Amino acid sequence: MRLRAIALVFAAMLAVAGAAQAAPPNHGSGKGNAPHGTAAARAALDPLHNAGKSGAECPNGLACRFVPAAYEQNSADPGDYGNYDLANRPADGLAIRYVVIHDTEVGYDDTIALFQNPLAYVSSHYVTRSSDGEVTQMVPTKDVAWHAGNWWINTHSVGIENEGFALEGSEWFTGALYRSLARLTRYTADRYGIPLDREHIIGHDQVPGPTEAFQAGMHWDPGPFFDWDRFMTLVGAPITGAHGDRTGRIVTIDPSFEKNEPVVSACDGSGSHPCPRSRRISSTSIPPRARARRSSTTRSCPARERRARRTGVTRR
Ligand SMILES: [Zn+2]
Repeated sequence: MRLRAIALVFAAMLAVAGAAQAAPPNHGSGKGNAPHGTAAARAALDPLHNAGKSGAECPNGLACRFVPAAYEQNSADPGDYGNYDLANRPADGLAIRYVVIHDTEVGYDDTIALFQNPLAYVSSHYVTRSSDGEVTQMVPTKDVAWHAGNWWINTHSVGIENEGFALEGSEWFTGALYRSLARLTRYTADRYGIPLDREHIIGHDQVPGPTEAFQAGMHWDPGPFFDWDRFMTLVGAPITGAHGDRTGRIVTIDPSFEKNEPVVSACDGSGSHPCPRSRRISSTSIPPRARARRSSTTRSCPARERRARRTGVTRR
């Protein structure tokens, strides 16, 4: 998601080492090159809690399914395809070093539908649902999803979108969502040897622009109401500073999530007025119809990915 500059103090905003270059990418079903097509078709019939049967890369016991993102050629231009890039990570030399945490800024079902549209030019490996923590995998982790707006980070990360709206309070990020996200993150880190710290388990807000010109437009999700302390504790790596860099080059900032209420100022688009506290509403208080309307009008995190890709700068 993208919003104006806002002054936020996030728990443990740590630098992403070595990030720089640029861009995004993705794959799909329907074109004969979708290795998970059969598994995906079975997924609709299989119990969600049997990750192996559903074809999803998830820890067993987690409610998880595989629904393939689109992978299709959109025009005669060889570079015009969506919504991810085929790869064979890490065997092809592209080490998976990061897990990137996002929020969707659109509903769960709309996010899945977006990634199934080859003209969206955006994807993530996983999407989680706010209400119950259900996980939908959409891109195999060996492939490169287009989620971070930075090609280098995309090629070296697994992206997880979480259903939520950054300016609408902490309750989108439910206990069920945190638990699923933590299990999935831990599972991914264990598989690829990703250190369980805030240098490697990062928010989209920590991903730098591919060039200086892109920096102002980079995303700041999952936003001020995502509780990194709670999440990292569930992951099994609480933010204590103990896992930090002892050279002094990296400083751990760990304010109390309950007590620290930074001013959020992007609600009216100007970025100059504090959001009314009433914006901090609970997801359960939002009528489904209102949610659907917001889903169609809110600028999503993925939408920014598309724009970045079209510039060509973030591509390769
Ligand atoms: Zn994002």
